[in-house]
Amino acid sequence: MRLLEYEAKKILAKAGLIVPAGFILPSDSDLSKTHVDLHYPVVVKSQVPIGGRGKAGGVQIVTHHDDLRSTCSNIARLKIGDHLPTNLLIEPKLDIIREHYLSLVINRDTALIQLIAHKNGGVEVETNKNFYREDITLNTSGSVAQKITNFFEDTDVHQLEKIIRNLFACFVENDMLLLEINPLVMTTSGTYICADAKVELDDAAAFRHPDWHFEDKPSEVNFVTLDQNGMVATIANGAGLAMATVDAVASAGMRPANFLDVGGGANKDSVLQAFKRIMEYPHIKAIVINIFAGITRCDEVAQAIITARHEINNLPPLFIRLAGTKFEAAATLLEQQQIPTLTTLEACLEAVKQQVNE
Ligand code: GDP
Ligand code: MN
Repeated sequence: MRLLEYEAKKILAKAGLIVPAGFILPSDSDLSKTHVDLHYPVVVKSQVPIGGRGKAGGVQIVTHHDDLRSTCSNIARLKIGDHLPTNLLIEPKLDIIREHYLSLVINRDTALIQLIAHKNGGVEVETNKNFYREDITLNTSGSVAQKITNFFEDTDVHQLEKIIRNLFACFVENDMLLLEINPLVMTTSGTYICADAKVELDDAAAFRHPDWHFEDKPSEVNFVTLDQNGMVATIANGAGLAMATVDAVASAGMRPANFLDVGGGANKDSVLQAFKRIMEYPHIKAIVINIFAGITRCDEVAQAIITARHEINNLPPLFIRLAGTKFEAAATLLEQQQIPTLTTLEACLEAVKQQVNE
């Protein structure tokens, strides 16, 4: 599950990382009745589970107390993606000299934790090329810190080593799948501060963490990100078929972005939810849908596909193979909407290849 920024920052602070001293304000607070004692300027941040808040107007600087109320109420009412914030995070504004990018992910090829870094962090990070990537362990954090220090054109190895060590420990202890600090800010006082944090926890580890109480709940859908930058997303039902679908995409020479088993009880809502998560990947060019329906009903999946096409902007082309329960009803529904289906996964992948290589 995806944590909100303030939830992620609480975990970071506990792990010894420096985060701004912020406080949480429920979006529906009446600021005329709430006493807040702040040193200005502050930054007000929408707590929605999605990136790009800065560009969307969800991160605003307030320099005078008189403007706090209007800024908070604007951000509380601003929809970002599909989300309205339940809470706002208010923090002292940082005196930023530089913004870097630092993240930890699981490298599924080596089964190790990989550090990814870029000198230029911030809201334009998607346009960066040549990210530094290296698998790390606690033993190598010193040498990696030296490289990152050079990379950031800094000299303070000790500070960065401590940050990398703490991030690593925090990642392991909390069963994270992703821990992204963007930006890691160098301030005028020479201290690195985690100005923004994105954390994805492994739902499968929830049983080990009775203390996990977050706004988001562990997903009932078995969804795993394989490659954030993959170009082909997959939706399948049943773990076996979902794995086979991912493998088939990879064998066809393309990068699958995700594994998704919508499960036996796949219905319109869960499939629609899956589409929305897939849309958060930046480079998706095609979605392969491979359903062999037993308990799942093809017509429900078809309904979800139709709804997704109506509700989601810029949905990439869909390559659909449906078979099994209520297939005829599904075929009729999809035909009415001029959504083509194919009879085999092989045929889907051939078509996907042409689409991706365009
Ligand atoms: P995001 O757009 O959802 O990734 O939200 P961020 O927290 O990363 O904020 C976006 C940008 O706001 C940052 O990259 C900074 O350039 C800018 N910014 C300016 N002042 C501040 C500040 O005091 N704190 C934070 N977090 N960001 C600031
Ligand atoms: Mn950010």
